Amino acid sequence: MADAEVTRCGFVALVGAPNAGKSTLLNALVGAKLSIVTPKVQTTRTRIRGVATEGKAQIVFVDTPGIFAPKRRLERAMVAAAWAGAADADLVVVVVDAAAMAEAGAPDDDTLRIVEGLRTAGRKAVLALNKIDKVKPPVLLGIAERLNREGVFTDTFMISALDGSGVADLKKHLAARLPEGIWLYPEDQLSDMPERLLAAEVTREQLFLQLHQELPYALTVETESWEEFGDGSAKITQVVYVERENQKAIVLGKGGARIKAVGAAARKELSAMLGRTIHLFLFVKVRERWREDPERYRLWDLDFNA
Ligand code: GDP
Ligand code: MG
Repeated sequence: MADAEVTRCGFVALVGAPNAGKSTLLNALVGAKLSIVTPKVQTTRTRIRGVATEGKAQIVFVDTPGIFAPKRRLERAMVAAAWAGAADADLVVVVVDAAAMAEAGAPDDDTLRIVEGLRTAGRKAVLALNKIDKVKPPVLLGIAERLNREGVFTDTFMISALDGSGVADLKKHLAARLPEGIWLYPEDQLSDMPERLLAAEVTREQLFLQLHQELPYALTVETESWEEFGDGSAKITQVVYVERENQKAIVLGKGGARIKAVGAAARKELSAMLGRTIHLFLFVKVRERWREDPERYRLWDLDFNA
C-alpha cells in the first residue's frame, strides 16, 4: 500500500503539573472547547478525550487531571486517573508551564515527579513547553536544555496553547508517530464525553470562575434530567452539591443572585456549544460527604479506591 493510503489512529496523553495548560492545549488541538479551563489548580477531575484528525491520522487526545502529591481521596483518584491515562496511551506529551519555570528558575516538584514516573516506567515522552507568550526566547532555551538533561524526552516543542503558536507543528509530529490502524471514532465526533457530563462541566467551570475562596473544590455538579423538545431545544436540570449549609448560602448568593448569574453564563455557553436553545435549571443541595461517596466517582469514571 502506498504510504498515502495508510490510516493511523492512537491515543496521546497530555500530562503535567496542575495549571500547566493541558486543558487549554486539548481544546486548541481539537479546535473545540471540550475541557474546562480556569486559573485555579485541579480543575480537571477526570480523563477527557478529544478527537482530532491530521491528514490520514486520527488522534485521540486524553486530557488528564494534574499530577501532584495527593492528600485526600478525591485527589488520589484524580492522580491515579492521570497516570492510567499515560499508561494506556501510545504517546505521552508532558506539558510544562515555561513561564512558571522561568520565574522559579527550576522545574517544579510536580514536573520532576512526572519525569521520575516516566523514567521508572521506561517511557519516553514529548516535551511541550507551554506559555511561551510569556517567556523570552533565550530563557526558553535554557529551560529546554535543563529538562532535556532528564533523558526522557524525545522531542521538544515550544508552544502557546492560548494563542495557538506551535500547536499545529506538535499535532503533525504526533500524528506521524501513531500506529497504523483504522479510526476509532466517526470523522465528525470530537469527544466521547457524554453530553450530560459535558453540560455539568460547563456549569462547574462557571462556579469555579464566579466563586472565590476554596469553595469550588467542595462542590460538584450533576445533570439530573435532560428533556428534548420538538423545536430542537432542550431542558437540562442540574444539581450543585455542596458539603455544608453555609456553602449553599454562598453558592446561592443574596436573593439567589449568584446562582442566577452562574446559570445564565452556563446556559449561554451550552447553547453555543450544542448549537441550540438550552433551558438550564440549577438546584443547590447539601450532601455532606459527597467526596466519600463511591457513586460520585463512578459518574466521572474515577477509581474510588485509588
Ligand atoms: P491545566 O490545569 O493544566 O488543565 O491548565 P488549564 O488549561 O486549565 O490552564 C491553566 C491556566 O493557564 C488558565 O488560566 C489558562 O488560560 C492559562 N494558560 C494555558 N495555556 C496558556 C498559554 O499558552 N499562555 C498563557 N499566557 N496562559 C495559558
Ligand atoms: Mg485541566
